Parts: sequence; C-alpha cells; structure tokens
Amino acid sequence: MATLPTLFLSHGSPLHALDAGGAGPAWEALAASLPRPRALLVASAHWETTLPMLTGGERLETIHDFSGFPPELYRLRYDVAGAPELAARAAQLLKDAGHTPAINGCRGIDHGAWVPLKWMYPARDIPVVQLSVQTALGAAHHLGVGEALAPLRDEGVLVIGSGHVTHNLRDWVGHRGDPQPADYVVQFSAWLNERLARGAHDELIAWQDRAPSAMRAHPTAEHFLPLFVALGAAGAAAAATRFYTAIDAGVLSMDAYRFD
Ligand code: ZN
Repeated sequence: MATLPTLFLSHGSPLHALDAGGAGPAWEALAASLPRPRALLVASAHWETTLPMLTGGERLETIHDFSGFPPELYRLRYDVAGAPELAARAAQLLKDAGHTPAINGCRGIDHGAWVPLKWMYPARDIPVVQLSVQTALGAAHHLGVGEALAPLRDEGVLVIGSGHVTHNLRDWVGHRGDPQPADYVVQFSAWLNERLARGAHDELIAWQDRAPSAMRAHPTAEHFLPLFVALGAAGAAAAATRFYTAIDAGVLSMDAYRFD
C-alpha cells in the first residue's frame, strides 16, 4: 500500500461548502491525484477538548456548528461512515506515545471536516474519523500527536489537519467588501511558507513568538494547531508543497499544503 501524504487545509467559512472560489477545484484536484484512501483522519479546529478525542461512531451525522448563515447551509449534509476500528487503532498509537486519548461514540462530523471533504470526496464513500485539538497544549503537543499517528500513512489513512493559515474573525467581519489583502496576512502566510519549505520545525513550534503578527493572525490558536498534526504525521524529513494559495475577503489566508 502506498504511503499517503498528509494535508493541512484552510477550510474557509461554512459558505465555502457552497462556493469555495479557487479552493474547491484545488481540493478536488488534489484528492483526485492521490491514491484512494481507506479512511480519512481529520484533526479539526472546530473540535476542542482538553485531551485528544477521536470519533468512534459507526456513522457520523452532520453537525451544523455555526449560526447566522443562509438556510441552504443547514440543509446541506455530509453524513458519512465512521471507522471505529481506526479510532481504536489511533487511540492505541496515542497511548503508546504517552498521550491520554479517549473515544467519543456520539460526536458527528463538523464543518471543519465536511467543508473541504464535500469537494474532495463528494460521494461520501470514504469513512471518517475526527480528532480533536487541545488548544491549551500548544504546537509541540500537536506535533507529538501527529508523530504518534504517522504509521497510519502506511495503512491507507489520509491524515488531514483542517484549520486556517490565518484566522481572525473580527478582521473578517470588519474587512468585508475590501478585497485588498491585509499586510499582516501576506506577511504571516509568507513566513509560514518559508519555514515549511525548509522544514524549520523548531521555529514553527515557536510561531507565537517568532512569526510576524502571530496574535493578529490567530487571536486564538485552535485554527493553526491542526497544521502540527499534519506536520508530525508526515515526519521531520517530509517535503512541504503549497498546492493552493489565496486570501479570501482580504484577511483569511486559504493556503493549503501537502507533506510528502
Ligand atoms: Zn473554521
């Protein structure tokens, strides 16, 4: 079985499920270029817990975890098979690495996962396990979580971190209608791309101190941390490729990476 890359996707707003601009076709083309995974393991910014949790249900129901969006978004569904045996396997790998994971048999699939998956795998015929983020535990913890899950790449599992390269919702609301990219978004995205290109993991782990306008780009860290799961699962020697780059509404970096 071919070793799969890992991905870090900027998933956009729930509206990107209907119109993702250039990101939709980019996600679609990327999925079409990969060997067909046996299952998807998605670390989503929209599931925050104190300890790593995995969805263990036989079937994941669509969660509409947002408010104030058009009605058609609430009719949109991405109900999909779960993969309880993969959840158990991932939990064991995390335990072996010294983590304290738990399995949640009720949790469904949130929009951090289903927005890009709707484009990548619209037939909903690949089982999904979601993994939560632990915002208080920071980047190094998530790198470790990813490292623990690395063997899954050889078992037909596509590991995806779903978050954002920049994510300041206050700016997003305030910037509406102005397509001119904010300077800090351009600078933060470039900083990240340059560090990923040369595998500077130590600098990346210290992103809150090192990256320009880190706190402006991420007032809270949950949308950036899934990157480290993807990075850890890919391994220290992995090559990073930015396969899509754009800035939505002037402030949301939509950049997407694969790690091989
Ligand atoms: Zn989000």
